[in-house]
Amino acid sequence: MAAQGILYIIATPIGNLSDITLRALDTIKKVNILLAEDTRITKKLLDHYGVRAKLKSLHDFNESAKIESLLRDLQSGADMGLVSDSGTPLICDPGFKLVRAAHHNGIEVYPIPGPCALITALSVSGLPTDRFVFEGFLPKKASERKEFLQSLRYETRTMVFYETAQRLCATTNDCIHVLGAHRKAAILRELTKVHEQHLRGSLEQIGCALNDPAQVVKGECVLLIAGDTSSADAQSIENARLLLADLQQRISHKDAVEVVAKHTGIGRNRLYSLGLDDRLKK
Ligand code: SAM
Repeated sequence: MAAQGILYIIATPIGNLSDITLRALDTIKKVNILLAEDTRITKKLLDHYGVRAKLKSLHDFNESAKIESLLRDLQSGADMGLVSDSGTPLICDPGFKLVRAAHHNGIEVYPIPGPCALITALSVSGLPTDRFVFEGFLPKKASERKEFLQSLRYETRTMVFYETAQRLCATTNDCIHVLGAHRKAAILRELTKVHEQHLRGSLEQIGCALNDPAQVVKGECVLLIAGDTSSADAQSIENARLLLADLQQRISHKDAVEVVAKHTGIGRNRLYSLGLDDRLKK
């Protein structure tokens, strides 16, 4: 029986086509099938490099339906690559279900690393990079967005969000309202492209810049906001968060909040707002 195929997760540029790696091109050339989020976009990239590949589409709407047949191909020895329209697949892009199914079926999955908008943005933001949290896209509805931001009010790590240009002003205003006008932030727009733009300063300064009628806000954006360091008890909040996460593996979320509140003096509401991973809640 032929050896099983390998699934390669291949990062592609986030704008500037020169940002592809040699390994990405080599892997694209050698795989039997290249899965692409939008085959037309990937074809442009391949044409630019004069590379040919057997393209098949894999996007959010067909991923589940295609998994069984893709697994059969992998099991019968076909090597596959997965690319998205830009950057690293699975980062706010399709592919998670396929990677999970590959693992469940003993198929090897290898990364071909490269650009990713969140890491690219973080690296030039000027905000602390030692600890950060990626929250993907914020909710579209204003009320849900504000509620979500409330849950991040006492987050001490740098927060990274993907945002569309159309919602950027509204989101920044919500951030000012919930997190405070003086919180440091950065917006990195159109990274690696012709109209790349970096805005840095307080949320208020960035809000003013965005509201300037002369400002053209188009394209793709990453929003980064500094963690809550203003609070004198940021360290004790962080310790409480770690303690809660630990306790919640043994007792219920509610009981854990009670114990931590009793021993730290931190209010229950504040503890509930620490935004712990739901998987840890009992
Ligand atoms: N997989 C991609 C990655 O590795 O970053 C992200 C795909 S997600 C569907 C698209 C979002 O990523 C955009 O709405 C924007 O927030 C961000 N993004 C992608 N390319 C970008 C760029 N060149 N400049 C700024 N943000 C970008």
